[in-house]
Amino acid sequence: MNVDYIIVGFGLSGLSFVEQLEKNGKSFMVYEDSSQTSSRVAGGIYNPVVLKRFTLAWQASEQLRVAVSFYKDVEDKLCKKLVEDLPVLRRFNSVEEQNNWFESCGNLGLNEFLSSELVRSKNTAIDAPFHYGKVKHTGKIDINNMLFFYSEYLHKNNKIIKDSFDYDKIEVKEGLVCYKNIVSKHIVFTEGFGMKNNPFFNHLPLQGNKGEYIIIKSEALQLKEAIKSSVFIIPLGQDMYKVGATYNNEDKTSGKTLHAKEELQKKLERFLKVPYSVVDQVAGIRPTVKDRKPLIGTHTDYQNIHILNGLGSRGILIGPTVAKKLYDHIENGVLLDKDIDIKRFNILG
Ligand SMILES: Cc1cc2nc3c(=O)[nH]c(=O)nc-3n(C[C@H](O)[C@H](O)[C@H](O)COP(=O)(O)OP(=O)(O)OC[C@H]3O[C@@H](n4cnc5c(N)ncnc54)[C@H](O)[C@@H]3O)c2cc1C
Repeated sequence: MNVDYIIVGFGLSGLSFVEQLEKNGKSFMVYEDSSQTSSRVAGGIYNPVVLKRFTLAWQASEQLRVAVSFYKDVEDKLCKKLVEDLPVLRRFNSVEEQNNWFESCGNLGLNEFLSSELVRSKNTAIDAPFHYGKVKHTGKIDINNMLFFYSEYLHKNNKIIKDSFDYDKIEVKEGLVCYKNIVSKHIVFTEGFGMKNNPFFNHLPLQGNKGEYIIIKSEALQLKEAIKSSVFIIPLGQDMYKVGATYNNEDKTSGKTLHAKEELQKKLERFLKVPYSVVDQVAGIRPTVKDRKPLIGTHTDYQNIHILNGLGSRGILIGPTVAKKLYDHIENGVLLDKDIDIKRFNILG
């Protein structure tokens, strides 16, 4: 079988690149083995503001424009409701935090996203004596369903193989990549933290940061917005909420832990005033990078072996933008920005 591209991994990175291929009429085959779960467990929130420091996330304004229209296109293509406008409220811990917020509201760039009105909620389920600030233009992607339905669509069109990609079986001959019975012009690796097993790229400084959520049920909570305090509370519907996530740089295993559950419950109970029960827990490893920028580009020795990785903790915003940049780089020779190009880690520069 001859294709234009082989894609290894179908999380958010893989989906973002596949969409580029579909839009441009390229043929491809995806390999996916369910070994990583980062995209499938993600909260799905897109929010351009860093809510710890009240600053704008890296290139967030531009990425937001690309991302929202990207996900709406995917929604139309799959005929499924996947995008939801979801307000994000930042719970203030002190008067000082309130003041910092209102100061930041005046900053160029941030004024588009931080509401300058103090939000006083009538919901007594949450203790919020200093009230809330509202972030504008936020929302939630139903990422688990998006991957599920997109995968089904690929399956129907014979474009996905549910199998582990075996790096030992890859051969590069006369400018083509051969893998088992497939001959391809290019291969793009989008394995998230699974990149650690990839001999072509495992020299890159992907660190990985484990995140866990608990899923709670509470009839009394009645939240319509996502609340950001020491943890996020994200409404899922039917009185269910995601609470989290944890950030752990040490543990690189994929399983859920009692320690994370206890940490999240402790933080939640500092401000949640109504009963709840924990009904589930999920875990995944964020593909984070030393310098907090994505890993995009082409292998130094092989011009048809590429990577799209390092989406970190904001994959929903970043994925669509960097996928388009990689596609334009491969197909149209457009140079990559220096701060995302993997060449920044070449010892020889
Ligand atoms: C708890 C948690 C909460 C998060 N919340 C948010 C959020 O609210 N908003 C946000 O923007 N981001 C969030 N993120 C970050 C976001 O999930 C990541 O940025 C994004 O999912 C990374 O996508 P990816 O496709 O690069 O990696 P992954 O999702 O890990 O996908 C890689 C895929 O490759 C497959 N794979 C790997 N190796 C192989 C192989 N050899 N053969 C075949 N297949 C292979 C894996 O099975 C996997 O499906 C969160 C992450 C976590 C862990």
